[in-house]
Amino acid sequence: MPVMPRPSILSVEPYVGGESKVPGVNRIVKLSSNEGPFGPPPAAVAAITEAAKEANRYPDGGATAIREAIGKHHGLDPNRIVVGNGSDELLALLILAYGGEGTEIVMSAHGFLMYELTGRWAGCSVLKVPEKDLQADIDGIIAACGPRTRLVILANPNNPTGALLPQAEVDRLRAGLREDILLVLDSAYAEYVTDPDYDAGAKLVDAGTNTVMTRTFSKVWGLGGMRLGWLYGPPAVVDVLNRVRSPFNVSSTAQAAGIAALSEPGWVEKNVAHNREWVGKMTEGLTKLGLKVHPSHANFLLVDFGSPEASKAADAHLRSRGLIVRGVTVYGLPSCLRITIGTAEECGMVLDALADLRNG
Ligand SMILES: *Cc1c(COP(=O)(O)O)cnc(C)c1O
Repeated sequence: MPVMPRPSILSVEPYVGGESKVPGVNRIVKLSSNEGPFGPPPAAVAAITEAAKEANRYPDGGATAIREAIGKHHGLDPNRIVVGNGSDELLALLILAYGGEGTEIVMSAHGFLMYELTGRWAGCSVLKVPEKDLQADIDGIIAACGPRTRLVILANPNNPTGALLPQAEVDRLRAGLREDILLVLDSAYAEYVTDPDYDAGAKLVDAGTNTVMTRTFSKVWGLGGMRLGWLYGPPAVVDVLNRVRSPFNVSSTAQAAGIAALSEPGWVEKNVAHNREWVGKMTEGLTKLGLKVHPSHANFLLVDFGSPEASKAADAHLRSRGLIVRGVTVYGLPSCLRITIGTAEECGMVLDALADLRNG
């Protein structure tokens, strides 16, 4: 008999991240993982270099300074913040701690794939609720919850659709869920949202004992390679995560990078202004080419090419010019590609390439 993992593990497909290489092409423009276009914040690079000098020391396991910096920046109690090795780690810990064999996770049909992968790893059944016009269906999610449901996980804005659920709908979701269901609001793209009614999750966290918000330094903050995410939650959930996380789950360089990034003047403003400009220009340009662009509230566009064949052809054409975007067939969207907003030059390259393809 060979050694075997728990049976549910083998139902999990390995996560395939955005690609970064095309054979035979020298200049690669990576627009497949929603990374910020301007590199890391300079202050973070300096802090990483400085922290490297003490890399022989274990990091602060309590992550006190970074939690205090996050708390100060967002007006939140540091004691109710937990940092993780990316928000992916925190999502996984939540699923393992509150889910597990015999339980169920409910998510939206085109929600972030990691919820499903980790859910299966944990042995949960994962229920995906159909969407209406690529928008999460709140009544559907509430109705789908059964006696075994322990977690409902919702990304808002959502990846890969870019859709934003109105705040009233998020509130209605929480109000419609049983008290013993943990609502996880994944707000990885919160900084990009311009809707004045939007709340990234802190209000609902504060209003009860069964909602958490996850955030990340990987997108607008330009620190995907550092692996730094955080969670704001009720004291009991924070206590659970501090029991199950590994004692040194966030490296000293990541902690230093996060603190420095938060002090970088104008960083978010600059990124958000650039993003707003190019979401607009790209949406307009691609729409003029006859493509359907879903309204985006994040730093990427979901572009519908009309058929899986046309989407594949566009992907191959972009790739031949070194432009790597993301196919989203695994998200049940085979006619679409997800394109990250890059620099002005990179956006121009995408528009030119697709114009050449469409105009023969
Ligand atoms: C990118 C992304 C994350 C993961 O972020 P990390 O902090 O890098 O692990 C989580 N949720 C969504 C919806 C994302 O798009």
